[in-house]
Amino acid sequence: MTDLERVRHSAAHILATAIARIWPEAQFAAGPPTDQGFYYDVDLPHRISPEDFPRIEEEMRKETKANHRFERVAISRADAIAMAERGELAALGPRGTPSPFKLDILQGIPEGEEITLYRNGDFTDLCAGPHVMRTGNVGAFRLTNVAATYYKGDERNPQLQRIYGTAFKNKTELEAHFTMLEEAKKRDHRKLGRELEIFCFDEDVGPGLPLWMPNGAVLIEELEKLAKETEFAAGYDRVRTPVIARENLYLTSGHLPYYADGMFPPMTLEEDRAVPGTTVANAEDSASARPPGDRYYLKAMNCPHHHKIFKAVPRSYRDLPVRFAEYGQCYRYEQSGELLGLMRVRSMQMNDAHIYCTEEQFASEFNAVNDLYLRYFKLFGVDKYVMRFSTHDPAKLGQKFVDDPILWKKTEDMVRRVLIESGIPYVEIPNEAAFYGPKIDVQVWSAIGREFTLATNQVDFAVPPRFGLVYRDRDNVDKTPLCIHRAPLGTHERFIGFLIEHYAGNFPLWLAPEQVRILPIGDDAPLLEYAKSIQQELRGHGVRAALDASSDHIKAKIANAETKKVHTMLVLGARDLEAGAVSVRLHGKGNVGAKPRAGFVAETLAAIKERRAN
Ligand SMILES: [Zn+2]
Ligand SMILES: [Zn+2]
Repeated sequence: MTDLERVRHSAAHILATAIARIWPEAQFAAGPPTDQGFYYDVDLPHRISPEDFPRIEEEMRKETKANHRFERVAISRADAIAMAERGELAALGPRGTPSPFKLDILQGIPEGEEITLYRNGDFTDLCAGPHVMRTGNVGAFRLTNVAATYYKGDERNPQLQRIYGTAFKNKTELEAHFTMLEEAKKRDHRKLGRELEIFCFDEDVGPGLPLWMPNGAVLIEELEKLAKETEFAAGYDRVRTPVIARENLYLTSGHLPYYADGMFPPMTLEEDRAVPGTTVANAEDSASARPPGDRYYLKAMNCPHHHKIFKAVPRSYRDLPVRFAEYGQCYRYEQSGELLGLMRVRSMQMNDAHIYCTEEQFASEFNAVNDLYLRYFKLFGVDKYVMRFSTHDPAKLGQKFVDDPILWKKTEDMVRRVLIESGIPYVEIPNEAAFYGPKIDVQVWSAIGREFTLATNQVDFAVPPRFGLVYRDRDNVDKTPLCIHRAPLGTHERFIGFLIEHYAGNFPLWLAPEQVRILPIGDDAPLLEYAKSIQQELRGHGVRAALDASSDHIKAKIANAETKKVHTMLVLGARDLEAGAVSVRLHGKGNVGAKPRAGFVAETLAAIKERRAN
């Protein structure tokens, strides 16, 4: 638990304390911290509404003012059950009725695991902790919402009221949080995406399948250009692979059957049945005696395809590292309830690459990948980021994690060393690794402090052997390479969603869908000719320049361009024509004065080429 999560979870106890004081009959289920704050699930005949919040918050304040200690008490299972039966858990004292949810939670605690209570004042709750030292350490809190829910999310269980709140160490942080949420609403990529005509969805196309409009396609092209240039310079080779593959490929990779829920259902091709040389590894298939090799899946990841390319020719240690890059199109079956704008989609294009290397090469390759991240962060003005380094849990080897304790230790040590040596901020999170190796999730904060998880970096020591990937080493022995999966720019969907919110739609010149718009004052023929020639010159250099030749008043033309967040406007009048100049106006900044035409063009081209920040 992070410090903030500790504050928030402690606030959940304080919330329960307050509710128990107002409604002593309240029964509580679970009260964990969340990304945004905390909640507590409560069973209560009174229907809590936001009108009750001030009263509850008032009671919470009394509890924080009292500054009670959070006291940890270890207790035997029998004693805990006895207390729950007397209704003393998540309560201010004994009650006439038991604490049913706490009894149920107790029953779920494995034999041999320590059972603890936490006390603040006269409120006692069943809880594994940890907490802040005292209730007064919860510096600032606010209740935000109430929603209906079922115990354990199962509709056969009783319905509960989930009360949401948020908490921070102090008032300044709490207020900054709500200011950020306000600003985030204005910058919501779904709202701006529609207004700026970047992407749309259509029921007939299907949920979670974004359609990129011309402005969105520009953003994609620019990001791909950036990735391709950067990766070329870093020694990557580009490959291309189809979006579908035989079932067998995913049985080899291990995606099937474990990840089947996350993939679109297969399509069956009759004519491809009974293909020799394929095997059935799926029990359901062999039971129905269906000929093998007849099912195709939309690809959910690019790795298996890339592994096959690695395998297509013999590899020597001299060839390594091999780096295959592809902006690969993947499809994943997210539950429709979980789709969210561009952040959770069913089709995605990933800034993917796989690096095959020896153990000796691992550190420098992994470092180079981290450098890519840092370079991109700098380019996009991302100042705050952290890498979440997920490791395995030795107790779950063979279930959640590939059963190879030696390789786990070795790869985790390698990753940790690289992170420490490169000085990149990171947090280590046990038990969250991928099945086949440690992974790094990259979290970034946008310009207004909103948090996004953008990309994953993974070390894979388990899948290369499944594919029989080898290279011939110095000693003439075949060895298995390590594989690094990396995608610094994540998927187009998520990254562009992030960029829209990060820039509030005010993209820097190099990214702006419309870079320059020329706005002649009036429709005098020589002036229009002049405007057209500038547009042609710019477009000749690959600049996305448009011309507003409408009969609108210049004020309307400017207002229109500002609404569309056009980066640079050239407001042209008779004087500009005479002088061979342009009057430059920048979106959101206003007029910056007249410049000679040639100077403006040269400067614009340089700003684009260098991908300047504004
Ligand atoms: Zn607790
Ligand atoms: Zn991969």
